[in-house]
Amino acid sequence: MQMITVLRLGHRPERDKRITTHVALVARCFGASSMILTTRDDALCGRIRKVAENFGGDFTVSYVHDWRKLLRDFQGLKIHLTMYGERFTDAANRMDLQTDMMVVVGSEKVPPELYEMSDFNIAIGNQPHSEVSALALFLDRVTHGKWEAADTGGKLKIVPAARGKTVLGRR
Ligand code: SAM
Repeated sequence: MQMITVLRLGHRPERDKRITTHVALVARCFGASSMILTTRDDALCGRIRKVAENFGGDFTVSYVHDWRKLLRDFQGLKIHLTMYGERFTDAANRMDLQTDMMVVVGSEKVPPELYEMSDFNIAIGNQPHSEVSALALFLDRVTHGKWEAADTGGKLKIVPAARGKTVLGRR
């Protein structure tokens, strides 16, 4: 089974609390199996664990001190999402979309060497937006939208409804 890991570079616990949480939620929801932070943040790990308890799945969040070594040693495709990168469609034609991937997203400016360490520097459009949207669009394309049919188990299940809210299970 393909494993997709998201490496979140440069998370600043106070400043990026919300956006890194959203990166994790997007990663979990759209098919990644884990997210790795380069700054320790136990509170964030706890928040994501709570979501996983309620909505299921095996998604994990962890922390690595030496992200360069992690990336260097990774056996799979190393993909850096950046607005300066090449067109996603062009890169996707040269990528094995079934293989394990480490997908790197930044917060502030990323270290220049990341461009060299990555197998692909991919732009989800060459305009600035956000790591959250870039990751969501990337995962949707790579997984061919499989997330929509995924059943992650968990204590809670939202029943699709045209109006109103139907939630099965108990908190
Ligand atoms: N100002 C930073 C820089 O110059 O690198 C970028 C900050 S941006 C808010 C944070 C992250 O969002 C980037 O590191 C990148 O991973 C992602 N991102 C933003 N726009 C993107 C795009 N058009 N394509 C791919 N990734 C993008």
